Amino acid sequence: MNIATPKRMIWVDGDTFTGWCCSLCEWGVTAPRLESTVAVLAFNRVAQESFEKHGCDKHTCQSGHA
Ligand SMILES: [Zn+2]
Repeated sequence: MNIATPKRMIWVDGDTFTGWCCSLCEWGVTAPRLESTVAVLAFNRVAQESFEKHGCDKHTCQSGHA
């Protein structure tokens, strides 16, 4: 069993999606329009908590096993 690749939160800023994604699965949270630094920090905090709780195996559609 290889646990050398922990999941990481990745910031994605694109045309169709802006927010946090998981490095290992399809998990993601779309960022709303945030006008202030306080709002950004609050959003990031919630996103971080949600990220910690999610299970990669439940969010991955395509199996990595052959
Ligand atoms: Zn994940």
